Amino acid sequence: MSGTSGTGVSFALDDETKLILEGLQDFIKQEVEPLENELGELLTHPRKGYTEEGRPVEPVVEAIDKVRRKSAEAGYYAMNLSEEVGGGGVSNVTWYAATRQAFSNGRGLNEHVVAGAEGPKPLLTLANEEQFETYVKPVIKGEKSTGFGQTEPGVGSDSPNMSTTAEKDGDEWIINGNKQWITNAPYADFIQVFARTTPQSDAGRHGGITCFLVEDDEFELGGYNNAVGQEGLQGEVILDDVRVPESRVLGEVDRAFYDAMEFLSLGRLEIGAQAVGLSEYLLEQAREYATEREAFGSKIGDFQQVSSKIATARARTYAADSVGLRCAWKMDQNMDAIEDTSILKWFATQAYWEVADSTVQIHGGNGVSEENPFMDHLHFARVLRIVEGTDEIQLNTIASQQGL
Ligand SMILES: Cc1cc2nc3c(=O)[nH]c(=O)nc-3n(C[C@H](O)[C@H](O)[C@H](O)COP(=O)(O)OP(=O)(O)OC[C@H]3O[C@@H](n4cnc5c(N)ncnc54)[C@H](O)[C@@H]3O)c2cc1C
Repeated sequence: MSGTSGTGVSFALDDETKLILEGLQDFIKQEVEPLENELGELLTHPRKGYTEEGRPVEPVVEAIDKVRRKSAEAGYYAMNLSEEVGGGGVSNVTWYAATRQAFSNGRGLNEHVVAGAEGPKPLLTLANEEQFETYVKPVIKGEKSTGFGQTEPGVGSDSPNMSTTAEKDGDEWIINGNKQWITNAPYADFIQVFARTTPQSDAGRHGGITCFLVEDDEFELGGYNNAVGQEGLQGEVILDDVRVPESRVLGEVDRAFYDAMEFLSLGRLEIGAQAVGLSEYLLEQAREYATEREAFGSKIGDFQQVSSKIATARARTYAADSVGLRCAWKMDQNMDAIEDTSILKWFATQAYWEVADSTVQIHGGNGVSEENPFMDHLHFARVLRIVEGTDEIQLNTIASQQGL
């Protein structure tokens, strides 16, 4: 038997990926951190960077915009999309590692380097030529931004039960409904609005839903949906007899929910990568503090109750990252990763939550201080356990993949 048989799995990143990660980190140091330093407390303080209505102040909005454009120019923003459409064409492993890398710098403008919900997501590659030029290309370049409009006041997890409808009238569609919690809605140039076009009784649970590209002056921005620590980023999209031409249908009529499901695993991989990167950042902060802070004549890291928190945080982060790499690898092999990415999303976001809690605890009073970012991480970890399918929805998926 050969000594190399059975070694078909590797967790080593290839040289090209390592170079991309180095370049990404340099980009964050050279282009993003100076902007963060300029903004100072406008970016880091829980209240100072907001207008009275709860919107981030203009310099923050402008800085986010700048980061997107520069990142697009440098080739990081749309790295997940194929080269054919102007993306970076990287593998899922590289995209996972890059997202993890960007988020391992903590929370800040670095979150906008690799595109999120406001950017070029794979669903947009269903655009026809005309839609691509008008809507998608500027998003890939970071010149326009968008939003994914599915959740409503009445439905979130059970989104096929949406009550937003679109009715055909000649060459136009008339959309009526109300979306909420839509990331980037207050700033988006257009929203991908999901609406029921054929009743569930005729089209089945997941059929009969169509996605429309609705421009910012065609919908009314309702209130902000302010998640703690995410103020001003999500908003309500009110669609009151909105008329759009047939040319705004993204993909096929009645097929949008199936299209979105195609990309479900990518969304979960992305959140997993974010959670792992943020856990790595916190772990570093906790480790550093434990080796500097003294109490009772010792470094606090010498107390077993502190060091075991760090060891547990490290084990959780390491395990979550291993799941993330495995998911990305399976997706690159075109293997089914539905169960894997649910495990990742569920495990990595809970790991992040636990790591954030331990980091707060290790920092004592400084842990809960507004001067430090740690409580913000606890809030954000909570958010990550809800978006892109809650903990419970991930467990439902795992159970159903287990035949239950
Ligand atoms: C910061 C933030 C950003 C967001 N961005 C977007 C966006 O860009 N676009 C968008 O469309 N949406 C967005 N959302 C909405 C998000 O996707 C939903 O909040 C999420 O899907 C949960 O839906 P819900 O809030 O309606 O909760 P519900 O679906 O009402 O669930 C409430 C509780 O019941 C549980 N539950 C529901 N069904 C089941 C079940 N079958 N089995 C077990 N438990 C169940 C849930 O797990 C949860 O604990 C965002 C939300 C937040 C907080």
